[in-house]
Parts: sequence; structure tokens; C-alpha cells
Amino acid sequence: MVRVVRYGERDAILTLLTETGLVTALARGGARPTGRLSAASRLCAQGTYVLYQGRGMGDVRQAEIARQRRALHEDVVKAAYAAYLCDLASRALPERPDAPPAAYRQFVAVLDGLEADRVPADVLARAFELKVCAWLGVAPEWRACMRCGAPLGETEGAPWYDPQEGGLVCSPCALRSGLADDTTRRAAGWPVPRKASAILHLLARADIAKLQRVDLSGSTRDAMSRILAHQLREFAGVGGRARQVLEEIVASLADPPANDQGDLDT
Ligand SMILES: [Zn+2]
Repeated sequence: MVRVVRYGERDAILTLLTETGLVTALARGGARPTGRLSAASRLCAQGTYVLYQGRGMGDVRQAEIARQRRALHEDVVKAAYAAYLCDLASRALPERPDAPPAAYRQFVAVLDGLEADRVPADVLARAFELKVCAWLGVAPEWRACMRCGAPLGETEGAPWYDPQEGGLVCSPCALRSGLADDTTRRAAGWPVPRKASAILHLLARADIAKLQRVDLSGSTRDAMSRILAHQLREFAGVGGRARQVLEEIVASLADPPANDQGDLDT
């Protein structure tokens, strides 16, 4: 269940992510804490929903919830990430039956990962954002310069992100085109740790269910976060507001600066 909107005093309109895409249905009594459908009307609940589809919006007749995902409600940071990921899925994925084949499984995997604490929440979110970029057709080739095609692992200097074209550019191309020069009128790009290009490529192809310990520096994580927030907002029109809310919550709860060293390969 990826979105719930209260409807009147008692009812709730649920957006469910199924294996074939989104479907919206009315849960009668879903807004009442003790109602029969109250567990089914909580964000991230996973299970079997039986819908009666008359004319117009379907009705949830029964629901058998297999996973309540309590951990995602009890921890503030996890709850913030879960809310963001549900919002992203509810906006970025199509209605039934048009969802990309992997969407449901990758979404379940990202919630599982968030519950299990195996991989940091921000890395999981970036992995899912990369899938969304690919499904919406706004994912560049993260490992090569989008101008000259040079492999970014081998070019001289750190790559740059081009916020107008939405992709990474090698350092020589960035200098040549004025991307690296903030005195030009052109919207300036920003430099990106070389490692970020490799990790974006890796995460974009990874099965989220199989992600293991990912040990990345703060600067690499910040760069990936900034790039993907921009990429989704500007080129796919999703995530802007919810992503901003997530960043604000995470920043307000942040511990003192974490260990910022030791990029390890995944
Ligand atoms: Zn280039």
C-alpha cells in the first residue's frame, strides 16, 4: 500500500502497488483505528487485497496482511524514508497493467532492505531512484561522458554533472563547454567524485534484494543524492516535494558527521 488519503470520517482511499501496476480502491472504515481494514490502510502494509470492482473506483472487500512492516513506523528515519519511497512509487509508476516487470519486486526489496538495516537507508533510496529513472526513461549512461562517450573511470580529472542535459560529462568536455565555468551565463554544473559515477552505474544495474553492505564516503553519497534529486525532479517531474521533506527530516535528526572515509568497492 503506497498511498492513503482519508475520505470522510471513516473511510480511506488506498493506492496499492500490485505486480502489474497501481490500483486505487476505497477501504470502508479504513480511517478508523479499530476498523476491520485499519491494518490494510497503513502505509507499507503488504498482503492480499480482495477488491470488488463495480463502476468507478473499486472497493476493498477483504485484506489479509502478510507484512505490517512495523519497523518502518517505529523508527523516525525509517518512517521518513518509507513515506518518501511510497510517495515516489505512487507518482512514478503507472496504473495496472502497465508497470515495468521488475517494479513490484524492487519496491518490496527496498522496503525489506529498509527494515533489515543491512544497507544504509540513503543508499537503498538511491538504488530505487535509479530504477525509477530507468523506468521513466531519464537515466543516462552513468559511466561514460554524455558528450564524447569517454569512459569516466579513465578520463583525466573528476567528472561533472550537467544539470541541463541530465548526465555526467568528462572533465575535458566540461571545461570545453563552459560547464565547469560558473562565470558563463549557462547554468553551471557541479563536479562529482569519480567514485559516484561507478557506484551510480553499479546501483542502477543491481537487484536491490541482493545489495549487501555498501560502504561509501559522505561526499559520494551527497553527490549521488544531489544528482538523483535533480534528475527525477527536472527530467521526470517526480519526487521534488517529498524528497525535500525527507531531506529536512533526516537533517533535523542527523547525528554528528559520520565517518567520511574509506570508499570500499561493493
Ligand atoms: Zn567528454
